[in-house]
Amino acid sequence: MDHFDYRDGALHAEDVPLAEIAAAVGTPCYVYSCATLERHFRVMDEALAGMPHVVCFAVKALSNVAVLRFLARLGAGMDVVSEGELRRALAAGVPGAKIVFAGVGKTGAEMAAALQAGVGQFNVESEPELERLSEVAVSMGAQAPVAVRVNPDVDAKTHAKISTGKAEDKFGVPISRAPEVYARAAALPGIRVVGVDVHIGSQLTALEPFEQAFSRVAALVGALREAGHDIARIDVGGGLGVPYVRSNEAPPLPFDYGAVVRRTVGGLGAEIVVEPGRLIAANAGVLLASVIYRKRGEARDFLILDAAMNDLIRPAMYDAHHDIVAVREPEAGAAILPADIVGPVCESGDAFAKARPMPPLAAGELVAIRSAGAYGAVMSSEYNTRPLVPEVLVSKDRFDVVRRRPTYAEMIERERIPDWLG
Ligand SMILES: *Cc1c(COP(=O)(O)O)cnc(C)c1O
Repeated sequence: MDHFDYRDGALHAEDVPLAEIAAAVGTPCYVYSCATLERHFRVMDEALAGMPHVVCFAVKALSNVAVLRFLARLGAGMDVVSEGELRRALAAGVPGAKIVFAGVGKTGAEMAAALQAGVGQFNVESEPELERLSEVAVSMGAQAPVAVRVNPDVDAKTHAKISTGKAEDKFGVPISRAPEVYARAAALPGIRVVGVDVHIGSQLTALEPFEQAFSRVAALVGALREAGHDIARIDVGGGLGVPYVRSNEAPPLPFDYGAVVRRTVGGLGAEIVVEPGRLIAANAGVLLASVIYRKRGEARDFLILDAAMNDLIRPAMYDAHHDIVAVREPEAGAAILPADIVGPVCESGDAFAKARPMPPLAAGELVAIRSAGAYGAVMSSEYNTRPLVPEVLVSKDRFDVVRRRPTYAEMIERERIPDWLG
């Protein structure tokens, strides 16, 4: 459920007409709804009720500091994958202890920054990383709290680019080798073992892969405890899919996901960490755009938008489906005809939808690309020297620009012509 609805024929974000935001900020821009973010956070939090747990929002899904601050005030921790994301979480006021630092290629400098910030957990993905982290911690007179990310070798049955839990994926250590890796961790002076971590992929639309993975982790926890390791925390990762409105996917409900967590690892007396990104953010955001031209094509019309693949890359990168709706509600009985909805970038892949049934839309009219809150703005670029898309946060009847559009001067000023070029 989200808070983007038609009222009096106009699409609103909560109590704010999207047309009002477009007039004030210009298009394209991202618009996020606080009420929707909060609803999704609480649904996940409640799904884990009765178990000691912390919901760490996966910052990589939507990293705007205002959004992070809003979620932190609800009680969220943060899952970060780089020093940049760590700095964002700290800037949003998240205490280090509620930050989990993940990622397969942490550098020594990033480790030092995270130790300095007192992060609560490093998710370590290899033995070389473990050795490095120990060295960095010892040099700072510290000990790093560590969960080893295990790869349970299950097929998440999701898009190949976002599957992470099969043996051939680059993530984690094979679960069969985990006991030796933990033995090594326990012997290192800069490492303190605190838990186990697993994350098998993103946009999962079935519970069985979670069930399999978490069952394997539960068995491992038993073995690790017998070997004398203190496993106080079990981090089950993120990855629960969301319904991309009107696509055919019907992902499981958070409540049922919570039940899987409960019956697999919930009874082990450990604190449960979850790292949802998409679940909280995807349907809490839209990309608001204007139609620049309606162009007649051979087979069907093209709607050329002022938003492009550099602003939202999911359709080009993952063949992702996004519902696209007119901001002015179509009249009952309006002719619905298939159209190709594309951006202005010079690549054929710059398309948001092919042969999509759409109401008649003229140049200048507004559309909202839905389910764009996660992996939207964070993956945007300045390709074609298009300014980074601004972000707007809505709460009830107010809206605020939480990232402004850069000027062309700012974009070009970052570059230098060397002296020898005169
Ligand atoms: C990407 C990622 C997440 C979040 O995944 P979602 O599908 O957005 O929930 C959580 N944990 C790790 C380690 C990740 O890489």
